[in-house]
Amino acid sequence: MSFKSLGLSEPLLEAVSKKGYETPSPIQAKAIPPILDGKDILASAQTGTGKTAGFTLPMLHLLSKNPVQKHRPIRALVLTPTRELAAQVYANVKEYSEFLDIRSAVIFGGVNQKPQVSKLRQGVDVLVATPGRLIDLESQGLLSLRRVEIFVLDEADRMLDMGFLRDIERVMKLIPSKRQNLMFSATFSKDIKKLAYSILNNPVQVEA
Ligand code: AMP
Repeated sequence: MSFKSLGLSEPLLEAVSKKGYETPSPIQAKAIPPILDGKDILASAQTGTGKTAGFTLPMLHLLSKNPVQKHRPIRALVLTPTRELAAQVYANVKEYSEFLDIRSAVIFGGVNQKPQVSKLRQGVDVLVATPGRLIDLESQGLLSLRRVEIFVLDEADRMLDMGFLRDIERVMKLIPSKRQNLMFSATFSKDIKKLAYSILNNPVQVEA
């Protein structure tokens, strides 16, 4: 099994080899092909399994297949429970998109919004965000999620533990109903299954 055989494009293979990865991890091998096929995913994966590359690589592949639009609307949204995770996912997105014409940004609370807003103004294809700051900037009219094509919910169980259910529901109303959804969670409680059912459309289930 190789990254190439999973169907990823050359610029992504180059970024992967720059990272020194030789073979896809199990979650990557299982998740990348259906994501490239445009399917929704419900993935059971802990941190440390390579889940971030598991959704970031195919997401970047899909985005880069379409021509860049002039005003660079946000086309992929990754929602994470904490700013640490948001920063980590963003760092991955930056690395894997090094050889692509893809712009990305990260926003989270607890810091001045100004630098985040000026980055958004330049136009970004991929936005990594925590729920509070995302909703805050959207309600100020500083970003729009109306053109989102790919929605990623990372560490969904931690999202619920931290009380973000209402915020997730609000975000779902801000993004188009026709979109691809990728949901990752380490555990699968009744509440997580309910959330998955409300967000996902006929998902392929994968386990690390
Ligand atoms: P994650 O589970 O996404 O937090 O990734 C855990 C760690 O595994 C990170 O340090 C990644 O850089 C690394 N990693 C991800 N995919 C691979 C791979 N295919 N081969 C080796 N290391 C990887």
